[in-house]
Amino acid sequence: MIDCNLQDIREKILTTAIKCGRDPATIQLVAVSKKFPAADIQEAIRAGQLLFGENYIQEAAQKKTEIGDTASFHFIGHLQSNKAKLAAQIFQMIETVDRVKLATALNKELKLLGKSLDILVQVNIGQEPQKSGVLPQDAENLLKQLIPLSNLRIRGLMTIPPHHDNHEHARPHFQALRMLAEELKRKAYFFDNKHVELSMGMSSDYTIAIEEGATLIRIGTALFGHRPVK
Ligand SMILES: *Cc1c(COP(=O)(O)O)cnc(C)c1O
Repeated sequence: MIDCNLQDIREKILTTAIKCGRDPATIQLVAVSKKFPAADIQEAIRAGQLLFGENYIQEAAQKKTEIGDTASFHFIGHLQSNKAKLAAQIFQMIETVDRVKLATALNKELKLLGKSLDILVQVNIGQEPQKSGVLPQDAENLLKQLIPLSNLRIRGLMTIPPHHDNHEHARPHFQALRMLAEELKRKAYFFDNKHVELSMGMSSDYTIAIEEGATLIRIGTALFGHRPVK
C-alpha cells in the first residue's frame, strides 16, 4: 500500500509541477512517519523514499537505531530546548526553529559536536494564538538574532497554515509565506539566498502548496494511512 501511495503522490507532484511550469526536481517529499513503526519506514525506503519527517525526539531516536543511516530525517514537531542535544545528533534538518532560546541551545550542542545543521524558521503565518512559530512580523528580527549562530545554516521557512475544510483557504497563507521568504531573501538572510527552502503543504493541500512555490512538502496520511491513535 505504501508503495502504491508513494507512486500516486510522486505522479501528482510531477503533474502539478509541470502544470505550473516548475522543475519537479526542486520539490522534495518529506514522508511524515510519526506514530508509524520503523517497518513502515523500511517499506517506504524499499520503494525509494529516503527522506522522512518525525515529530517526537524519543520516537525518532528509537526508529533511527532500528533503521540505520540509509534514510534522512527532518524534525517537524515542537522542540524543547532541553532536547537540543539529541535533536542535533539525529536530524539532517530542524524545520521548526521559532525562537532564539532554542536556536542558541542547538548552536551550542552543534559546536560541541563539531558540526553544522540545516534549519528552517517556522512561521505562524495565520497568526493563530495556540500555534508554534514566529509571527510573520517578527520573523526578520528573529533571523537577525540567528545569523551570528554560526553552526546553524538557515535554509528557509516552514509553516502550517490554519486548518480549514476547504483546502483552498490555505492558498493565501502559502502565498504569504513565499512573499515573506522573498523579502528576507532580498535582504540576504539565508545561508544560500539562491536556493531558499519553503516547507509547506501536507496530505490535503500539497498540490496547492506546490503551485505556490513549496520546495518541501510534508505528507503523512496520504502515504502511510491514518495515524494509529494510542
Ligand atoms: C503530522 C504532520 C504532517 C503530516 O500531515 P498529514 O496531514 O498526515 O499529511 C505535516 N507537517 C507537520 C508539521 C505535521 O505535524
